[in-house]
Amino acid sequence: MECLLGIDLKKSAAARAPYAGGGHFVTRMSASPGTSRWSAQESSQATNGSATPKGIYTSRSDRTTRSGPGRQASLFPSKKIMNLHTSILALVVLLCGVARAQDIAPVRHEPNGLNSAKAKRAHYVVMVSLDGFRWDYAAKWGAPHLLKMAEEGASAPEGMLPSYPSITFPNHYTLVTGLYPEHHGIVDNEFLDPERGYQKYSYKDKKTDADGSWYGGVPLWSLAERRGMRAASMFWPGSEAEIAGKRPSYWVPFDDKFDDEKRLEQVVAWLKLPEAERPHLITLYYSNTDHAGHDFGPESDEVRDAVHHVDGLMGELEEKLKATGLPVDMIVVSDHGMAQLEDRRWFALDKLVDLKDAATEGANLYPKTEAEKERIYRALRATNDSRFETYRLKDVPGRLEFNHNAREGDPVVIPRKLVPITAHARQETIKGVGAHGYDPAQFPQMKAIFYAEGPDVKAGARLSPFENVNVYDFVCELLGLKPAKNDGKKKMLARALR
Ligand code: AMP
Ligand code: ZN
Ligand code: ZN
Repeated sequence: MECLLGIDLKKSAAARAPYAGGGHFVTRMSASPGTSRWSAQESSQATNGSATPKGIYTSRSDRTTRSGPGRQASLFPSKKIMNLHTSILALVVLLCGVARAQDIAPVRHEPNGLNSAKAKRAHYVVMVSLDGFRWDYAAKWGAPHLLKMAEEGASAPEGMLPSYPSITFPNHYTLVTGLYPEHHGIVDNEFLDPERGYQKYSYKDKKTDADGSWYGGVPLWSLAERRGMRAASMFWPGSEAEIAGKRPSYWVPFDDKFDDEKRLEQVVAWLKLPEAERPHLITLYYSNTDHAGHDFGPESDEVRDAVHHVDGLMGELEEKLKATGLPVDMIVVSDHGMAQLEDRRWFALDKLVDLKDAATEGANLYPKTEAEKERIYRALRATNDSRFETYRLKDVPGRLEFNHNAREGDPVVIPRKLVPITAHARQETIKGVGAHGYDPAQFPQMKAIFYAEGPDVKAGARLSPFENVNVYDFVCELLGLKPAKNDGKKKMLARALR
């Protein structure tokens, strides 16, 4: 849908995502959500029974009203006296799903229930992602507010381990489901699904990005909503799709250019809603450090400036959260780190082996027959090229948790040097000098951050590196929610609890 107020949803998705599609140099894969052990559909039917009706919704105080034919009269009772301009404006507002005067961002409102009595008693969690904020940036570049969070709360001084591949969509969605990418199904920013006729998922395409059938697991916001607790998302991968029968009560179509300060103000405005409507879980996202890292490299002045900028925002957010007087736990994480590329020239697999008619997406290979999978596997192995390793899917080392989802392709190519790998190169060199997606065990530059503080977080708790699948249980604990089944272990972050 194209919003008449000038918010072109298609264009705004990942408006600044220059490294997508072939821009990540790793292959990834998993069982499709529909067949995975923790499929959204299965769990949704088990506890919910019915799917949320589709459409655009507006909300007035506690009541939600579906916009559309036959329902507009209640919103605009005095149509006769409305002049033409007012009518057009009202229609535009309805089409855009923007309902409340106090909305700072173009918020979409879902017709979810109000907070239950139990939910009203729960604490609040604001979870922020600083995309591509490497584990060592705060100490390296000086980030006083994050370092203060570490003093007053919990942190992972040696970093948090991203799941493989260390890429944005797989890891953001892991953070909110507790599932490895191959269990939640978002195995890359862009990939094909052989079990859906080689259809392509792309984070840049609203048709797939906002289509819940691609996503497995029960993301935190859906879990909360299903338990009678309102959630909100000021951006987060997956937040635009209906998953496990729910969307967050309040969410915003992704627009990378949307003002940083206003994002923060929107979060605070949600916390000022009346108790019954106020979200207890809020996500917030910034991409500044990722962009600077790609364009100029992790050692650049531009990354230093981006670190200072987002750190300032975190300081401001912390102050504003405290000023609400509510019991809010604030968590700041990243999805992955950033490395300086050894070589900016694309390393194309089709220069080494004839890929014939194999379907490909980035460095992911999807030959259509067993014979072709084996031929390409053997040919790539025979190159003995030190820049990568090749495995048949089922043989990818278990520690990568990347060996049983058809979306990961077969064979699987794992980079062993910091070079950009793709099946077919369209250009000679990659745009930019920084990259991620690599194995965090081999490249510590891939490690992410974890900081948390608030009434439920132990001051000064310093955690050894832990896998990001463990964040889900931690957030559930803070909110008093029983987690859905996931790959994390509760005890991993128990030391961070007060
Ligand atoms: P990556 O290079 O894998 O770190 O991807 C980062 C890009 O993902 C950023 O430039 C954003 O533009 C894009 N992005 C982040 N969140 C979303 C979202 N919710 N929807 C679409 N694109 C997103
Ligand atoms: Zn990222
Ligand atoms: Zn990136």
